[in-house]
Amino acid sequence: MTGYALHHVTAISGPAQRNLDFYTGTLGLRMVKKTVNFDDPGTFHFYFGNKNAEPGSILTFFPWENAAAGRLGVGETQETVLRVPEASIGFWTHRLLAKGVTHEAPAKRFGETVIAFRDPDGMRLALAGIPGIEAEEGWETAEVPAEHAVRGLHGVTLLLEDAAATAAILTDVFGFEQGATEGPTTRYQVAGARLGSVVDLRAVGGFPRGRQGAGSVHHIAFRAPDDAAEFALREQLLSQHGIRTTDQRDRDYFRSLYFREPGGVLFEIATDIPGFTVDEPFESLGQSLKLPRQYEAQRREIEAVLPKLDA
Ligand code: ZN
Repeated sequence: MTGYALHHVTAISGPAQRNLDFYTGTLGLRMVKKTVNFDDPGTFHFYFGNKNAEPGSILTFFPWENAAAGRLGVGETQETVLRVPEASIGFWTHRLLAKGVTHEAPAKRFGETVIAFRDPDGMRLALAGIPGIEAEEGWETAEVPAEHAVRGLHGVTLLLEDAAATAAILTDVFGFEQGATEGPTTRYQVAGARLGSVVDLRAVGGFPRGRQGAGSVHHIAFRAPDDAAEFALREQLLSQHGIRTTDQRDRDYFRSLYFREPGGVLFEIATDIPGFTVDEPFESLGQSLKLPRQYEAQRREIEAVLPKLDA
């Protein structure tokens, strides 16, 4: 059975410039798309990714200049994990320290070396050192050499009251396989997927629900290669799990369905097509503000209300 690994993770942040500086500067990710929130065009939507802007490498943010801080609770994504070559863990340990980023000492999880850290909004992130990925192309910046670059998403950890119903969606619908358990956390993984292959379920009964805000993950998206695969997943969710998704929404770079999984986390299914080069060339991805067709006529008004950015 083919599995459906992660396509992207979308989170809420505070001020746009600070968010941009952290992800492209400190973490050295590629700015893949600079657009607006399609449901609220007066705010940005930033997409960061790896050199090739691949599905499975994408971390997106809705920056709100005055967002109140979120509070983590059950029914949410607790941590988002990015993958770097195993030999780059030393580089990143030094870099997070030099940049004054709040982080923990490297630790072993499921056999991988992981550094947990926070972004400027308190979002929980980690870098996982993965063996054998040195040859994957890296995005080079002034401060992060290509060899140490983040190569995309590794996975997420979901914080849940109870993991069973969520695990059933992952295994029955998205083709994840159950892996090892460490403490309250069980690993689910798509065999053979290079990017975004891991969803860890952390079951903590009795923990309060959270409050979404700056630093919170809004939703996680799973990849479907095309519309037919996406609609097949939709049918399977309904027939086997009694879960209804939204209608398909056109996000310009992918087409999406959304549903709330039984543990409370907002899940999306996003197509790999048409991808981020649909409205600008690969070489200049993310450099200019792209607006969806329905807002192009209002470009001047939208640009006037968006926060000003240095880069
Ligand atoms: Zn999304």
